[in-house]
Amino acid sequence: MSAPSEAPSTSPSTSTSPLSPNPSNAAPPRHPPLRRTPPTRLHLDIPPNDEPSKNDPSRARPQPTTLRSHSDQAGIPRLPKRHNLGNGRRDCTQPLGVPMKRVLLLHTGGTLGMTGEPLEPNAYSQALTDAVPELNELAEIDTEIVFNLDSSDIGPEHWTTLTDKIAEHYDDYDGFVIVHGTDTMAYSASALAYSLAGLDKPVVLTGAQRPLAALRTDARRNLADAVELATCDIPEVGICFDGLLLRGCCSTKSNARDYRAFDSPGISPLARLGVDIDVADHVLHRNEPFAPDARFDNHVLAVHMTPGFNPRLFELMLEAEDHPHGIVLAAFGAGTVPTAKRSLAPTVEKAVGLGIEVLVITQAYGLVDLSLYQNSRKLAEVGAVSGGRMTVEAAVPKLMHALAIYDDAEARRAYLQRNVAGELG
Ligand code: ASP
Repeated sequence: MSAPSEAPSTSPSTSTSPLSPNPSNAAPPRHPPLRRTPPTRLHLDIPPNDEPSKNDPSRARPQPTTLRSHSDQAGIPRLPKRHNLGNGRRDCTQPLGVPMKRVLLLHTGGTLGMTGEPLEPNAYSQALTDAVPELNELAEIDTEIVFNLDSSDIGPEHWTTLTDKIAEHYDDYDGFVIVHGTDTMAYSASALAYSLAGLDKPVVLTGAQRPLAALRTDARRNLADAVELATCDIPEVGICFDGLLLRGCCSTKSNARDYRAFDSPGISPLARLGVDIDVADHVLHRNEPFAPDARFDNHVLAVHMTPGFNPRLFELMLEAEDHPHGIVLAAFGAGTVPTAKRSLAPTVEKAVGLGIEVLVITQAYGLVDLSLYQNSRKLAEVGAVSGGRMTVEAAVPKLMHALAIYDDAEARRAYLQRNVAGELG
């Protein structure tokens, strides 16, 4: 068993070097040991990049590592879990005597696992159970370190890897937990919501604002909550943070410092974890075959409209040889852009004429309605598509996915306007 021996701080006032999943850049320990005896250490291995080491055959195809259940070992009976159910249908209670649900925990990096030491698969799962012993009471868990990155380095190719990983193990587990940095978690959650079409098991992303090894960490609670939710009948991609499960493709990182780091504006949480777990009635239960499609086209650019925006700068991008295949345009209010002086409409028209898909979302929270104002109508007239209620985190991966899977513009536009995973509210 291992546990953190040092507690790195995330506070800028005490920080002398940055937190990093890459040990060579890791912050030196600054706090006294978390526990005096025995001083153990969260020991995490993983190459600093996302590629397994080529010389090590055991890494060629990493296999999940199983967490040993203390209760099974010691013969300690499990307590029944209690859940308040919205309508009696969404039962995630595991009665006594029924085998524990199986959960695959995939590690991708982020603050939760940052320790200043390399990650090692066996030690990683050991460290999880040491730090959060109740994990063993919640599910039979296998872990796998898929990569170990600050989430600002995670992108479409990693979404593809995660989709493939879940598809590969889909029949072996009841649910999946993905440990992920918070910075781009909402993008990854959205991407998976689209790529895991027909999902009928929970996929729960979680992370932490303070490392598992740190004092006063939020990692323990988030991990335990995420694992428990992965055993429930909530067949969506969600973000579990600070006692809430949010729909992944409606979520946004709303705070960089609070433990309540995520919000899903316009839609209430899928579940609230207090004394009981309250599961909302609007959890989606789709009746489609599981048909994952891991393709994303990363030639997508997001443009944030600002007063006085110079359309010529936009146009220069279109003239580049390697121009974007799609643009997410974050317009004002209900979808307005300047049309009097420095009108954007001719440039959007040019983009559409070049076959570049322009998807309009709003910088505000709420619905884009391109028919509402003269300054929004122009965009519809020149062929831009309304992104409805989509956040930028939902819109960018959706456009990337649409561009990758549909050559036909009509079909692509129909997909963009279809409520694929609840992203349109
Ligand atoms: N920079 C970190 C990441 O997103 C922040 C976090 O995990 O909370 O990987």
